[in-house]
Amino acid sequence: MTHPFLDLPPLSAERFAAIEDGVARLLGTRQDVLVTQGEALLPLEGAIRAAAGSGTVALNVITGPYGQTFGNWLRDAGATVYDLCVPFHTAVTADRIREAFAEHPEIDFVSLVHAEAATGNTNPVAEIGEAVREQGALFYLDAVASVGAEPVLPDAWGVDLCVIGAQKAMGGPAGVSAISVSERAWARMAANPNAPRRSYLSLLDWKERWLDAGRAVLPHAPAQLEMLALEACLERIESVGLDEVMARHRSAALATRAGAVSLGGGLEPYVYEAADAAPVATTLRVPSQVVASEVVARALTDDPTLPIAAGGGALAKEMIRVNHYGADASPETVERCLAALGAALGV
Ligand SMILES: *Cc1c(COP(=O)(O)O)cnc(C)c1O
Repeated sequence: MTHPFLDLPPLSAERFAAIEDGVARLLGTRQDVLVTQGEALLPLEGAIRAAAGSGTVALNVITGPYGQTFGNWLRDAGATVYDLCVPFHTAVTADRIREAFAEHPEIDFVSLVHAEAATGNTNPVAEIGEAVREQGALFYLDAVASVGAEPVLPDAWGVDLCVIGAQKAMGGPAGVSAISVSERAWARMAANPNAPRRSYLSLLDWKERWLDAGRAVLPHAPAQLEMLALEACLERIESVGLDEVMARHRSAALATRAGAVSLGGGLEPYVYEAADAAPVATTLRVPSQVVASEVVARALTDDPTLPIAAGGGALAKEMIRVNHYGADASPETVERCLAALGAALGV
């Protein structure tokens, strides 16, 4: 008997390359694109360990939990790191970035998270990219939570290392990810004696054995099921239209933001300015006498599948997250989430 996801023939190198080309089209990039065989943390870590070393001076922008992680990897790689911490209710500005450059003119690497699903903010990457270009620094961007929800344009923005995952707004699998790499970034890696080689984390291995070899023979067995899912996900976005997919996320975010306030239970947008709020997920602040995680638990009693969560760690007390991404970027899901939150708040 045939099984829908067993006994499949191996994925060919040609098909793997075509999926990479689909990612390149999605990002509108002419840079090299590698599909990486693991969740997005793989290329996120691989890129930092390859591009940063003891000579690196990094500006690490922290607008949520991922920025913290990147700072740890950078220090681990021997880099000098200046953290720029931005309160989670706002976004970083290009001016703040320029001030950091003026203070530390030796900065040659910038790490930034585009949108943060965990804190609900999004950063103005186009403007920041201009500042980074003026500085001549290498620009590393985590676009996992933005791709599919808002424009991600590595070439136009001068991003040298742009990481995406399909599991959020793309509505795809979590087990594969991708990175676009500029010529400058490859040169930085090649010059770094400590860049991972002959390692699962190594982007240079894939460059040499896959890209430079004409993408003819796969170095390892591809994560076949996830690759098929990524292919289907890219095809669906192309057939619906990326603009339409992004518009659905934007509408869901605006409806959640406005609807939560008009519930009357004292919820407020966690991110003050709508322009700084991520289309992928909306964060809400509960009134001070209420505990967010308790509200979430009550809101999920009837339907535990609703995409509502409390903030992580210390934020669990004050923050509610509505994760309206992928299939959940719909007016129906937003309405059901708002109704459940209203009931949980007793309004
Ligand atoms: C979701 C997300 C990732 C991927 O991490 P997971 O732990 O698999 O969820 C990476 N970066 C950002 C900014 C994300 O929102």
